[in-house]
Amino acid sequence: MKIFTTKSDLKNYFKELSSKEVTIGFVPTMGALHKGHLSLIEESKKNNGITIATIFVNPTQFDKKEDLEKYPKTIDKDIALLKETGCDVVFTPTVEDIYEGNVSSNSFDFDGLEHEMEGKFREGHFNGVGTIVNAFFHIINPTNAYFGEKDFQQLQIIKKMVEKLHLPINIVGCPIHREANGLAMSSRNERLTSKQREEASIIYKVLQSVKAKLHTESIGNIKLWVEKSFENHSSFKLEYFNIADEATLKEITEIKPKRSYRAFIAVYTDSIRLIDNLAL
Ligand code: AMP
Repeated sequence: MKIFTTKSDLKNYFKELSSKEVTIGFVPTMGALHKGHLSLIEESKKNNGITIATIFVNPTQFDKKEDLEKYPKTIDKDIALLKETGCDVVFTPTVEDIYEGNVSSNSFDFDGLEHEMEGKFREGHFNGVGTIVNAFFHIINPTNAYFGEKDFQQLQIIKKMVEKLHLPINIVGCPIHREANGLAMSSRNERLTSKQREEASIIYKVLQSVKAKLHTESIGNIKLWVEKSFENHSSFKLEYFNIADEATLKEITEIKPKRSYRAFIAVYTDSIRLIDNLAL
């Protein structure tokens, strides 16, 4: 596995590669890798000549300084895992190399997708995501890029960005990997105590119950039930729960035929923010 730490070295590598007409699969990550990340690498390996992962904790997508500072960093372990999974290239640039002294976001218009859910609670988050993913797309020029449904809103926003900027990149969504107790794998889980990790199974349990209740109860009643469930679970604080249309990400109040919907949730335990979603 080749490891690059500067974009100029990486660009030189791609220049050499360009005559070989090989397809490039790209998996952007912020490190602290787990099986969810590795499933994206495996998916890329199936369909591309070269798979490249980036490990970069992007400062412009963090709205809270504490969250950025406490983001887990396990670079040696990450590199070992990527090697084991058969990743071909890993790019671990510095903030300076990427932002060149100007650590700020560009402004994007994602046709309103950015104002729903996460957009309401994480000021500037999706402009930060768009900025870094677009920067990597221009450095790497991938054929396919892989994103997890764990961050479903992000996946839809990246698809929108590619469409609006006419980038010739195929965006592939990959299913959510979960712990045995149902908790969606996340780098932030590293910050949970073992008790919190165990208790966090409530998130997936609630989502599954929502799916079951959809046959018999109104969406208004389901929302109230979810709110109550978390009120009764004092170590978790519900930030939002929504049932939304997969394409528009707009919250719905009734189910219509021929549309696809998902339940989305964000909760806090201590200062650790966890998100999850489930196709309905
Ligand atoms: P992150 O390092 O959190 O920025 O995640 C990098 C990529 O891995 C994103 O596309 C995430 O959606 C994806 N990802 C994170 N957790 C999971 C998971 N549990 N299952 C599948 N994909 C995931």
